[in-house]
Amino acid sequence: MERTLPKNYQTVYQALRDAGPGQHLNAAELCLRLGTRAAHISQTTVYRALDRLVALGMIEAVHAPQARHVAYEITAPSHAHFHCRVCGALRDIPCPATALAQVPDLANLLVERTVVLFEGCCPACRVENV
Ligand SMILES: [Zn+2]
Ligand SMILES: [Zn+2]
Repeated sequence: MERTLPKNYQTVYQALRDAGPGQHLNAAELCLRLGTRAAHISQTTVYRALDRLVALGMIEAVHAPQARHVAYEITAPSHAHFHCRVCGALRDIPCPATALAQVPDLANLLVERTVVLFEGCCPACRVENV
């Protein structure tokens, strides 16, 4: 699958893979990481690459309602996210999809994707706000 991707798209994918699981980067952060090795890749290309990689299931997009930017991460086993509305930190919360599939009202529905996002204040920001 990777081989059919344009080279620039592969470079974007590689950068997210290098960042590793649990690392969430927005498009601007990703451009910074690409740095000089991909100075020729325009921001538009980066956005297109991200859309395509999400569509292929190779990476995932995390949309936190209170976040200013969409964050991207390498596809990892099912997990939930915690987003700190103060500092913007996005943290993985291990949470198997099977735990959520127990919700009774889902019984007759074909669930293809489960997105769980907790939003609030991280410990560091809570200390500062006291
Ligand atoms: Zn915080
Ligand atoms: Zn994550």
